[in-house]
Amino acid sequence: MTGAGPGPTDAEWAAAVEAVRGLPADARVLLICHVNPDGDALGSMLGFGLGLRRLGVRHLQATFPGPPGVPEPFRWLPGVELLVPQDDADPDPDLVICFDAAGDSRLGDLVDRLGRAGTSLVLDHHASNTGFGRINLVDPHAAATSVVALGLLDRLGVPLDAEMATGLYVALTTDTGSFRFEATTPAVHEMAARLLATGIRPGDISRRIFDTRPFGAVRLFGEVLGRATLEPAAAAGHGLVWTYATHDDLARHDQPAYVLEALIDSVRCTAEADVSCVVKQSGDAEWAVSLRSKGAVDVSRVAVALGGGGHRFAAGFTGRGPLDEVVGNIRAALGAEVLVPHS
Ligand code: 5GP
Ligand code: MN
Repeated sequence: MTGAGPGPTDAEWAAAVEAVRGLPADARVLLICHVNPDGDALGSMLGFGLGLRRLGVRHLQATFPGPPGVPEPFRWLPGVELLVPQDDADPDPDLVICFDAAGDSRLGDLVDRLGRAGTSLVLDHHASNTGFGRINLVDPHAAATSVVALGLLDRLGVPLDAEMATGLYVALTTDTGSFRFEATTPAVHEMAARLLATGIRPGDISRRIFDTRPFGAVRLFGEVLGRATLEPAAAAGHGLVWTYATHDDLARHDQPAYVLEALIDSVRCTAEADVSCVVKQSGDAEWAVSLRSKGAVDVSRVAVALGGGGHRFAAGFTGRGPLDEVVGNIRAALGAEVLVPHS
């Protein structure tokens, strides 16, 4: 995230405040977060949504592209009652607000709402954000989209409560790896302190989000980790470790796809590799690829080269074709100019 541009200007904040404050009483507002929503996408969207409720916004929906099921770890989040399947989302709302999406390609079939809405507001923290909203609040230095969401709630004068804080905290802990990543600045801990002061219980929240999975998923992880491959010479000698999981693997262990989201955290422990990768089958010949780096390699460049995006040390893309080819493309991209320059 270093080298990224500055955060939102005063004029952009003011425009965003005006877009919300200027809404008529019966305005229809649609919140959208990115496909395969994670803790930041859902937590910032629902936390912010509850804030809009407090402001008196009555016609409020939240949604995301793709199948409507909310991953089990997030089903208890305050504000989930705002969620509707994408097909039920208002076709032409007065205001659309997007969360944690770096580009409109992350909105799937919901992208048409952007054009049809009265106005659109983008809240995000990806340096690669394309500025696809009418108003864009993009802060590449923010550890999570929820930092931007809280910034706007504060400017709107919404008092923070425990329900809003829960989503915003889930978002913050997700994107900082539970306050372990470099993005964990003093400002992150100050925000966490504000959120915790509302009375939310961090132990309960972390256990539900990060430390609970069905036994079938534990067995599935064992199998998938057991076939991880280490390639020490890849990435100019910085090393690559990768594994994959297919629909068949999920079916054998009777598990939904989202359980695989946590897999990268076990793979990236590998001491011998700077780059880690999990290739997850998402269609017949389609793969959702997660990439992580410990600092030597800028994996966002790998992801962008292969049609995706993300951050320097956490990125992803959709791979098409046979598994071998997808992994071959990653290997090749890691051979290009993707090393982080020495500062
Ligand atoms: P994850 O591996 O957790 O799915 O994603 C890591 C990061 O990469 C996230 O910040 C996410 O925004 C980005 N990312 C993952 N998949 C894609 C993709 O297909 N396209 C784009 N543009 N970004 C992605
Ligand atoms: Mn995020």
